[in-house]
Amino acid sequence: MSGRLDGKVVLITGGSRGQGAVEGELFASEGATVVLADVLDDEGEAAAKSIGPAASYLHLDVTDAEQWAMVTKEIVADHGRIDALVNNAGIFHFTPLLSTTEAEFRRIIDINLVGVFLGMQAAARYMVEQKSGSIVNISSVAGLTGAAGFSAYNASKFAVRGMTKSAARELAGFGVRVNSVHPGIIDTPMLKTLDDIGVRDSVVDRIPLGRVALPIEVARLVLFLVSDESSYSTGSEFIVDGGMTS
Ligand code: NAD
Repeated sequence: MSGRLDGKVVLITGGSRGQGAVEGELFASEGATVVLADVLDDEGEAAAKSIGPAASYLHLDVTDAEQWAMVTKEIVADHGRIDALVNNAGIFHFTPLLSTTEAEFRRIIDINLVGVFLGMQAAARYMVEQKSGSIVNISSVAGLTGAAGFSAYNASKFAVRGMTKSAARELAGFGVRVNSVHPGIIDTPMLKTLDDIGVRDSVVDRIPLGRVALPIEVARLVLFLVSDESSYSTGSEFIVDGGMTS
């Protein structure tokens, strides 16, 4: 059976659970070799095992440039190439402007923004040599509009959106495409933050489709961007938010 990702080697950060794990499962079912990377090692090993032989797990803290170099080197040694990188790892914290510490702010920027920068740099080194590749940076609706109490998260996700466009222009001549994805409210462990501050219901009330999304509804969009079906898309923003930003 032919799949939409036959022969492709795809690295997904934050792959131990939530959207990353579901993307791994979908991509493997479409013929990809999938490498899940995360800091949650037990969950990541289990996620790779449940996907089957097409998937493996590697430890990667996205804030660590040396770990990025080791992981990408290992993937190329094992599989010969890296066709796609999904920069999906992220954290979501409530950070009201007047009470957020500098350390909290920097931690969110470090994971959500610097992690994406380091990932693009590490993977693009190989993609430029291959003269092909697709990088998908998971931003958020919080990369398109503000949200009271989330200045650090907003800052990181807006920056990912901007950096995506610069990287797309820079890498286009090497056959490497870079796009950002902007999910709305997706049913993953991350939603606990909205529950903790008691705003989930009021946020859902503002979604025209009237519900949160399943992770597979984002994964299908990311699949399109990883695949050659999106061959003419680069530097673009792809929104999957149930109409939230319409
Ligand atoms: P999640 O919390 O289930 O998954 C995030 C994953 O990132 C976890 O497995 C976590 O261990 C990993 N991670 C955190 N820090 C890391 C680090 N330093 N190095 C490596 N991995 C690390 O949440 P999710 O919803 O699956 O989130 C995936 C992406 O989608 C994130 O970038 C998030 O900001 C974005 N997003 C989520 C929503 C939502 O409603 N769930 C909405 C918009 C955007």
